[in-house]
Amino acid sequence: MTQPDHFAAPAFEPTLQAAHARLAAVNPAAYSRTRNHLDGAVTRLSPYLTHGFLTLPEVLHGVLQRHPLDVQHKFVFELGWREYFHHVWQQEGDAIFASLHEGPLPDAAYASELPADIRRGATGVPAIDLAVRELYATGWLHNHARLWLASYVVHLRKVRWRAGADWMYGHLLDGDLASNHLSWQWVAGTGSRKPYLFNADNVTRYATAAWHSAGSAIDRSYEELDRIARSALAVPGGCGGGIDEPAWVDTAPPAFTAPDAGQVAGRAVQLVHPWSLGSVVPAGRLRVGVLCAEFHRTWPWSGARWHFVATRMRELCDLLWVAESGALRQSLAAAASVDGRADPHLPRQLHELGLQQPVRLFESPRQRCASFTQFWRRVTSGVAAAGELLQRAN
Ligand SMILES: Cc1cc2nc3c(=O)[nH]c(=O)nc-3n(C[C@H](O)[C@H](O)[C@H](O)COP(=O)(O)OP(=O)(O)OC[C@H]3O[C@@H](n4cnc5c(N)ncnc54)[C@H](O)[C@@H]3O)c2cc1C
Repeated sequence: MTQPDHFAAPAFEPTLQAAHARLAAVNPAAYSRTRNHLDGAVTRLSPYLTHGFLTLPEVLHGVLQRHPLDVQHKFVFELGWREYFHHVWQQEGDAIFASLHEGPLPDAAYASELPADIRRGATGVPAIDLAVRELYATGWLHNHARLWLASYVVHLRKVRWRAGADWMYGHLLDGDLASNHLSWQWVAGTGSRKPYLFNADNVTRYATAAWHSAGSAIDRSYEELDRIARSALAVPGGCGGGIDEPAWVDTAPPAFTAPDAGQVAGRAVQLVHPWSLGSVVPAGRLRVGVLCAEFHRTWPWSGARWHFVATRMRELCDLLWVAESGALRQSLAAAASVDGRADPHLPRQLHELGLQQPVRLFESPRQRCASFTQFWRRVTSGVAAAGELLQRAN
């Protein structure tokens, strides 16, 4: 199988320079024209946003310096999706990890394990097998490829969305529990009104020739796909071969050690964690990088993601600690002060240190918005130019 041409995209370097270079390259006009195409002008900013190299207001500010935009511009709108998913997570808590409502079939109609031919990129559907290869090779996928992969897994192969979501999360460099798990629910129809379906014609329209999948399991009409999505019968999988799935790692890299209260006693501490990797720390603070062991046991990452995160943490921090969040909190209690940004991926124990709220582009509505449309109307009400959002942002 040939590699798709856009594999040539450079890897994601875990540096602020790389993040700012991507930001400087954003072209909103080309973005809105071509973002649905696999080789379109998307930004590839997601690993930097997920890990806090850049915040959404910084991204918008950087873009607006060169391109004045209306608030309804496609680029601003897409940034809104990230915040919408975080709004839902904030409102629903751990409920986002189960079906928000029933999809086309009850949960029990779907398998709980992802079949080996999907994990090995050996389904026989080029668009799916190339997406799996790209995910493993780069830790990133175009939005359309994510949609196709998720739709195939859930609606054609009848695998529970949660199994697919956990698998994809573990391999993405930008894996974000809200964006990922809620997008899978949106595709599955458990977080939206109808299942997301796609076919070979759709792939032909948006992807280059290597991805085209005529004659495969996805070469069907939308009526037929809808019938399949609503019946318990799965389409057959592939027949062997494929590539090895990269291993997940649920333990911290070697540089991280157990916490020691004596190292921080009486000091002003700046807390650094995997979701706050952009911070330039005021002089005089002791920079302590922390990993919460229980989070990583529950949500293991690929070696590539560990490399991305740990390289930056090593560069930023004076001390690197790993432990259960309770033990981290106890040791940090010896510090004179602890400063840092909260993030919803951090266990609650660390939020109790009095961390600042996450930086947001929109103030999250107090009441749960039932749909993105409702959220978007609410947060952009009375706003014309995108720059006004920055004045409102915290
Ligand atoms: C099944 C599935 C799983 C996904 N998992 C994740 C995930 O774990 N982490 C993640 O950040 N995004 C996820 N997304 C959303 C989206 O695919 C990625 O944010 C986007 O492809 C990242 O590439 P980019 O930075 O070039 O995006 P661009 O199109 O350039 O957009 C710029 C930024 O806007 C935000 N954004 C754009 N579209 C979306 C969207 N639909 N939903 C949420 N945010 C969006 C992202 O922060 C992105 O970096 C998922 C989508 C699907 C369908």
